[in-house]
Amino acid sequence: MTNAFDLAGKTAVVTGANTGLGQAIAVALAQAGSAIVAVGRSGMDETERLCRDAGARFHSVKADLSSLEPIEQIVAESVAAGERIDILVNNAGIIRRADAISFTEKDWDDVMNVNLKTTFFLTQAIARRMIEDGRGGKIINIASLLSFQGGIRIPSYTASKSGLAGLTRLLACEWAAKGINVNAIAPGYFVTNNTEALRDDQKRSSEILARIPVGRWGNPADLGGAAVFLASSASDYVHGVVLPVDGGWLAR
Ligand code: NAP
Repeated sequence: MTNAFDLAGKTAVVTGANTGLGQAIAVALAQAGSAIVAVGRSGMDETERLCRDAGARFHSVKADLSSLEPIEQIVAESVAAGERIDILVNNAGIIRRADAISFTEKDWDDVMNVNLKTTFFLTQAIARRMIEDGRGGKIINIASLLSFQGGIRIPSYTASKSGLAGLTRLLACEWAAKGINVNAIAPGYFVTNNTEALRDDQKRSSEILARIPVGRWGNPADLGGAAVFLASSASDYVHGVVLPVDGGWLAR
């Protein structure tokens, strides 16, 4: 029986792969056999070592995703590294915390630019390639519980992640017939830089933990299975879902 989760011969572009969830996803895809193109503004040495240890080919592209400027270079370098792009994981994202009543335009724009605007136009550029070469592909957006819920003190983050869930559904509707699966993963509360401020706040941290049915925060490696599933032929008939990986948070 063939392994529907096998990614041998595939090339995956993963944004924000130097740390946290992006790094764990890159490593999981590498372990499933994919070559990795890691895109980000910081050094990728640790991710490179982990992916190569898994036996994967690895290439990194230095790019600041706060503007659209690096998109052409990302696509060109990724294609050069892998001949074609089979998988795109839009993971890079930022968060700014402040009360909505005093939230600044800069904190709005900075978050929307990375989490939504660049994500859309990078996806568009890579989908054009996937459509041109006629073999389709897999696009995975990293959404959030804030794609379903309001949260507090993170207005631009909630708007961006709710927008990303909508965009996931729209792109799935437009591109499913072209052989591209567009889906999203909504991680719950994971131990990464993104949640450091929350974990440092004893009260918020224990309130969050008390609501997670499995009784612990997520470790980045907990996302690997969902990422491999959505990147592989095992999910060929799955389009436009936002898959929670949240220890049961949304079930409560
Ligand atoms: P993280 O450790 O802060 O990672 C964020 C990644 O995005 C880093 O690689 C970061 O690069 C990259 N990034 C940010 N701005 C960038 C820019 N302008 N150009 C290029 N790369 C940029 O946090 P994380 O938790 O792993 O977050 C990964 C994704 O998961 C984000 O989209 C986040 O919203 C989402 N998420 C996280 C959680 C959670 O509980 N942790 C829950 C739901 C969703 P640098 O290291 O160079 O800044």
